[in-house]
Amino acid sequence: MPLSDDQQSEIATLRTSPQSTLRAVSPGMEKHLYTAHEVLDHGFVRVVDYMGDDAAIVQAARVSYGAGTKKSRDDSGLIRYLMRHWHSTPFEMCEVKLHVKLPVFVARQWIRHRTANVNEYSARYSILDREFYIPAPENLAAQSTVNNQGRGEVLTGDEAARVLEILKTDAGRSYDNYEAMLNQEGQKGLARELARMNLPANIYTQWYWKVDLHNLFHFLRLRADEHAQYEIRVYAETICDIVADWVPAAYGAFEDYRLGGVNLSAKALDCVRRMLKGEDVTQETSGMSKGEWREFEATIA
Ligand SMILES: Cc1cc2nc3c(=O)[nH]c(=O)nc-3n(C[C@H](O)[C@H](O)[C@H](O)COP(=O)(O)OP(=O)(O)OC[C@H]3O[C@@H](n4cnc5c(N)ncnc54)[C@H](O)[C@@H]3O)c2cc1C
Repeated sequence: MPLSDDQQSEIATLRTSPQSTLRAVSPGMEKHLYTAHEVLDHGFVRVVDYMGDDAAIVQAARVSYGAGTKKSRDDSGLIRYLMRHWHSTPFEMCEVKLHVKLPVFVARQWIRHRTANVNEYSARYSILDREFYIPAPENLAAQSTVNNQGRGEVLTGDEAARVLEILKTDAGRSYDNYEAMLNQEGQKGLARELARMNLPANIYTQWYWKVDLHNLFHFLRLRADEHAQYEIRVYAETICDIVADWVPAAYGAFEDYRLGGVNLSAKALDCVRRMLKGEDVTQETSGMSKGEWREFEATIA
């Protein structure tokens, strides 16, 4: 169960107690506020608070560019211009605070994004729940033979069953021993901060994660990418859907220039120009390494 009873009743209370405000409100984000979106088997993402909307980005940009921009571009055109030219600070005017429940090994990748504010559930203070991420059978992939940092075919049959059994039994046994070591009646009990070291990396943790839109886009570009590990990518994709409702114009520009766009090196750009003039460019004549050429071909294919 991703949400505890307490969390569910808190969300229900918050969603039925609207308050009037003079602050900017994004109608698309209001529908997400507090509600949990389930991710993986026990995880979720939910918006706890947010600041700003598309208009806040435009408003900040017009402070620096002046009212003249109003005549030459409409709001979404200005947002696209800012995104295209890497003008980051207007996007920093919007912020979002998320409550995320995620497996510890996903949290380890996530925490590498240093430009956010984080407050995590304390396993020194509290006892972690018996909740582990066990991949769905279709996500039980073998090690990739071509990419050391990736997955290959999905495991099937006896091998899949054996792996799932190992994951479940080991997690259950570790948790049983965690509980047995904790402070219980009739024994001194090991401190929570020490007992937790026996827990596996697929146990769930929770945190509040606050980030501005510029740095959130950076996170999403890396983690919603097909090269990101599936287990963090599904969180990033859920957040993408939320952001698309929150700041539709900014998200549209992000999708176009960052998620769906590519950066070309000077050599790659030169190749494109030569190809457009009808030249049959090959890896040997491109000036690129084999790896660069392979990626370039995949990009323009
Ligand atoms: C597919 C994939 C594979 C990865 N594999 C590995 C791996 O094998 N091993 C590994 O260790 N990591 C790995 N990472 C993590 C990666 O190297 C980054 O640490 C992570 O993506 C966070 O990126 P970031 O530093 O740009 O983000 P943030 O920390 O959010 O920073 C955003 C930007 O702010 C600036 N910035 C932030 N802090 C500083 C600072 N202290 N000094 C200067 N500039 C700063 C930088 O411009 C940075 O790009 C991987 C990431 C991905 C997406």
